[in-house]
Amino acid sequence: MCKVIAIVNQKGGVAKTTTTVNLGIGLVREGKKVLLIDADSQGSLSSSLGVEEPDELDVTLSTIMGKVINEEDYGKREGVIVHEEGVSFLPCNIELSGLEVTLVNTMRREYILKEYITSVRNLYDYILIDCNSSLGMVTMNALTAADSVIIPIEAAYLSVKGLQQLITTLGRTKKYLNPNLGIEGIVFTKMVGRTNYAKEIKSMVEEIYGKNVRVFGAVIPHSVRAAETSAEGVSIFKHDPRGKVAAAYKKLAKEVLADE
Ligand code: ADP
Ligand code: MG
Repeated sequence: MCKVIAIVNQKGGVAKTTTTVNLGIGLVREGKKVLLIDADSQGSLSSSLGVEEPDELDVTLSTIMGKVINEEDYGKREGVIVHEEGVSFLPCNIELSGLEVTLVNTMRREYILKEYITSVRNLYDYILIDCNSSLGMVTMNALTAADSVIIPIEAAYLSVKGLQQLITTLGRTKKYLNPNLGIEGIVFTKMVGRTNYAKEIKSMVEEIYGKNVRVFGAVIPHSVRAAETSAEGVSIFKHDPRGKVAAAYKKLAKEVLADE
């Protein structure tokens, strides 16, 4: 059985892309077959995995979604790139922003990505979708296609405010578009453990949401080593295998696996 997880937060810079890459490769290291979908027109996931010029790619997520919209055939592995660390990914580039506009006037506009995922999900154990930092049409497609979401959050006041809006959107998505949508959990990222402020924010989130939503035990520490990995085109497991960020993403992968 394949599980589809959207990594979502409308706030930028909270480590959605970093979490998608390292959780994905963390799951591969536990023996799983994993597809990552880059659903951000900036192509950050694609460049983090070594694509130097995403805008020069011929086949990307928008190509495939365009084919679904036009009812054209596509190959199950069309456009998918296999990374040296064993994870597969469907890249993305600036063309996705045009698709964002096209979708508005498309029939069943929230269901286009779901149609693609349904046709390939038997090839994988996990499909992780790296959402962009908005709640636009492409993100709504991701939420409609997903079985659950992981919400990366930074321990800062503004992130917590955005969390309420996000949880409201997830509730509406569940009601109107995807009754099976669950929340896999909230994961704290870029955590500066030494400050009381960060700890207070974390306790506050646990107090407000912890009864209904899991807050992952894995906390991703703030580290320049994590920030460097995207420039290297590899995961933290390769860039800094013995570091605390690699240990934290390994723990996160194990927590996700424990639900199987
Ligand atoms: P998002 O996809 O939510 O916009 P990114 O994954 O692109 O966020 O991360 C935003 C920035 O933070 C990037 O420059 C990234 O390298 C950096 N970053 C991610 N995780 C960490 C971490 N654990 N410690 C320090 N910097 C991080
Ligand atoms: Mg991103």
